[in-house]
Amino acid sequence: MERDGAIVSMPLRQSLRVGSYLMGQKLRRKDKFPLLVELEPLFACNLKCAGCGKIQQPASLLKQRMPVEQAIAAVEECGAPMVSIAGGEPLMHPQIDVIVEELIKRKKFVFLCTNALLIPKKLDKFKPSPYFSWVVHIDGLKERHDESVCKEGVFEDAVAAIKECQRRGFRVNTNTTFFNTDTPQTVIDVLNFLNDDLKIDEMQISPAYAYEKAPDQDHFLGVTETRELFKKAFADGNRKRWRLNHTPLFLDFLEGKKDYACTAWGIPSYSLLGWQRPCYLMADGYAETYSELIETTDWDAYGRGKDPRCSNCMAHCGYEPSAVLATTSSLRESIRALRG
Ligand code: SF4
Ligand code: SF4
Repeated sequence: MERDGAIVSMPLRQSLRVGSYLMGQKLRRKDKFPLLVELEPLFACNLKCAGCGKIQQPASLLKQRMPVEQAIAAVEECGAPMVSIAGGEPLMHPQIDVIVEELIKRKKFVFLCTNALLIPKKLDKFKPSPYFSWVVHIDGLKERHDESVCKEGVFEDAVAAIKECQRRGFRVNTNTTFFNTDTPQTVIDVLNFLNDDLKIDEMQISPAYAYEKAPDQDHFLGVTETRELFKKAFADGNRKRWRLNHTPLFLDFLEGKKDYACTAWGIPSYSLLGWQRPCYLMADGYAETYSELIETTDWDAYGRGKDPRCSNCMAHCGYEPSAVLATTSSLRESIRALRG
């Protein structure tokens, strides 16, 4: 599951920890620091989604699994309070439960992003914890989701897996990616279903990023289309009602009320290849350590209007850190985020 985890509108314990972490960075006058690390301990997946930019790696790399010690050392070096484990499909990693347990021991908030197909087989290896959330990939209702993941029956399996996780007391979030085949109504339909019927704890949404390697290049949203789509979907009180896992300012950004510069250093990505420059969507080389990534990347060269590959990007990994920083630097926005 290649997408990322969550930042704000989080449970209290997590909000307090992230709030004090942000305060600490401010007091130390650090201008670049990680909020959440994207950990990709493998690239292999049991699905072949047409919009995926991760599973096209060479076969020799698809066979590799990141050793537990390497994963933990990378997270410790970077120091982010939250870790989103993606891939590939993380549940295909034979020691994924150990990675999760070790991160929880270190009081990291862990989001395990999955397409849910292996949950029935692996669920016994996990225990509910205030530090742990499943993040299940659901791109639409049955027909749309199955079409998006290029396999029939995946939606029903994912819904059944979500219900079983909830029954066992786990926190379950979802992650939904939208394409230009979506309409405001398909956005409303899937978010109503997740919010009201499945009672998902928090839902993350994202316009799909046009990965160069993705086989389907025709269905990615442009910036204007993204803004139109979300503006219409959020109308009639929907935005307020849905338990969306984003800051109000990031939602303003999605519907075109605000604009920000990209701050991809806030959600760095570590995979079998190292620290990916500049973000988990684009690969302009790799650094061996997080400090090397921060120090040797020309961050000003990235973002919309700077690099043509960024021109349609409104992804969470580039702009949610910008929204978080804008929130924490304004008392009014902090109160609005807390209310949200
Ligand atoms: S679930 Fe789909 S999008 Fe996620 S890693 Fe697998 S193939 Fe890629
Ligand atoms: S805008 Fe930022 S997050 Fe998006 S692709 Fe460019 S560098 Fe990555």
